[in-house]
Amino acid sequence: MNPAIIRAKVVGGILPRVAAAKTFFGHGEGKACCVCDLVVDRQQIEVEADFDGGLTLRFHSFCFRAWEKARRAAKGLMSDSTNTRLA
Ligand SMILES: [Zn+2]
Repeated sequence: MNPAIIRAKVVGGILPRVAAAKTFFGHGEGKACCVCDLVVDRQQIEVEADFDGGLTLRFHSFCFRAWEKARRAAKGLMSDSTNTRLA
């Protein structure tokens, strides 16, 4: 997956800009990954991420890392990232 595509999804609001409240790592259960839309199969590690507000997303472990990276990169691109401003 192209990191630029993941970053575009974060900036566009398709993927969350905020960190997950809770994450669980386990084997895939045949459900689709929210980043690449491919199924996380039983041989792969799935990350289940719970967000504030009741949203639950599933990621491949490598897609989860890519999303975390994209999220941090996207923060610098967005004008409303006041929390990253240094005094
Ligand atoms: Zn994936």
